[in-house]
Amino acid sequence: MVFKAKILTIFPEIFPGFLGYSLTGKALKEGIWSLETINIRDYAFDKHGSVDDTPCGGGAGMIMRPDVLGNAIDHCAANQKIIYMSPKGRPLTQAKVKELSQLPELTVICGRFEGIDERVLEEYNIEEISIGDYVLTGGEQAAMIMLDAIIRLLPGVLGNSASTQNESFEDNLLEYPQYTRPIEWKNRKVPEILLSGHHENIAKWQKEQALQITKERRPDLLEKTLDSK
Ligand code: SAM
Repeated sequence: MVFKAKILTIFPEIFPGFLGYSLTGKALKEGIWSLETINIRDYAFDKHGSVDDTPCGGGAGMIMRPDVLGNAIDHCAANQKIIYMSPKGRPLTQAKVKELSQLPELTVICGRFEGIDERVLEEYNIEEISIGDYVLTGGEQAAMIMLDAIIRLLPGVLGNSASTQNESFEDNLLEYPQYTRPIEWKNRKVPEILLSGHHENIAKWQKEQALQITKERRPDLLEKTLDSK
């Protein structure tokens, strides 16, 4: 099954961008996922392709118009799961990424200016997702990050399917420290335990390290584990 990504944007030329490289680029060529970009300006009602207007009630910047965006959605994405990339959205998590990777298709709206008219979100039952507590200039960057995380979970994208099993956020833990050759570098040695060949002890050490790092850097993740018990 091909995962179909549809992007509504005023900058279609940004795509596929970095999604055209490495594993995501290979998967695009192999047809594991497909990309369709829709230029919102093509659905404007004037010859200039105007998509924005001043905010009602005053304030800085411009807002993307509901009629133009709605026209684009009606023509290209009616009755589909739609996400609007937004700093006001719920934070993107690995659990959400997994959920989205199960869908056959996904439409993503990339905002610009000061964002989009609230009525569009209500009318099309659109879910808002944020990629973090900071403000970007546009939703394209955020959409690409979310799609990158989704695409790497699609069957056939990662060579070794086990490689997601011990990753950060599995079991609400951050990943343990990783090492490779050379065994000694700038007087720093790879921990002895990893060279022991004793798989059980290695797994135990890795679990302890993962717990320690999570406790120090993201205690909120461990609280989630406790809450779910
Ligand atoms: N006025 C908006 C606010 O304060 O919430 C910010 C608008 S921002 C300058 C323009 C666009 O960038 C947004 O419509 C959204 O699509 C995107 N964007 C910015 N920060 C984002 C974030 N953290 N996550 C997802 N999308 C973001």
